[in-house]
Amino acid sequence: MGNAISLPKELEHLVDSLHMSNGLTSIFIEVLAINGSLLAKTNREKELIIWLAQRDQAIVGAGNVGFDIDEMPWTIDYFESEKGFILRAISNAMDGLGWERLSYEPRKDWVIGCLEKFRQMISAFDKEYVKSNNYLVWTEIEVDDDYPTIPVGYSKCETHGIYLSCHRCILCNNII
Ligand SMILES: [Zn+2]
Repeated sequence: MGNAISLPKELEHLVDSLHMSNGLTSIFIEVLAINGSLLAKTNREKELIIWLAQRDQAIVGAGNVGFDIDEMPWTIDYFESEKGFILRAISNAMDGLGWERLSYEPRKDWVIGCLEKFRQMISAFDKEYVKSNNYLVWTEIEVDDDYPTIPVGYSKCETHGIYLSCHRCILCNNII
């Protein structure tokens, strides 16, 4: 079935939805998690990457990780810097940074095409469409006492250097 990433309905005419196979989605999320983890400085930036890394098909099931851009945990107060951060992470991923941390050799051109479309979507997304409640609801979800939504201290995987989510490390989980 694959996964789709979409802009909110009001903005769909600017960039249509990004459709990816399950395998392509995994690579897409993983290279963004790697680059976001290299770049993140503020807690909000780390949290955006943790949210993306939760879209882990090895745990939540293949084809279950599509999302709309306004579901991401943006905050109104820091929206412009959060958007700039995600755009830098996409740009670095498109430049091939950190890909050597993957345990496999992906079809780079396919992934880069998807990253370019995601870049266009994030560029088109605007503060007025931020649903700030999504951030609050997400941070308050108690998945499990031992595995909170945002791991205490923003810990990283010692092997892969990426932020852990409640599902632990998306790269460790993907090693078959
Ligand atoms: Zn790992």
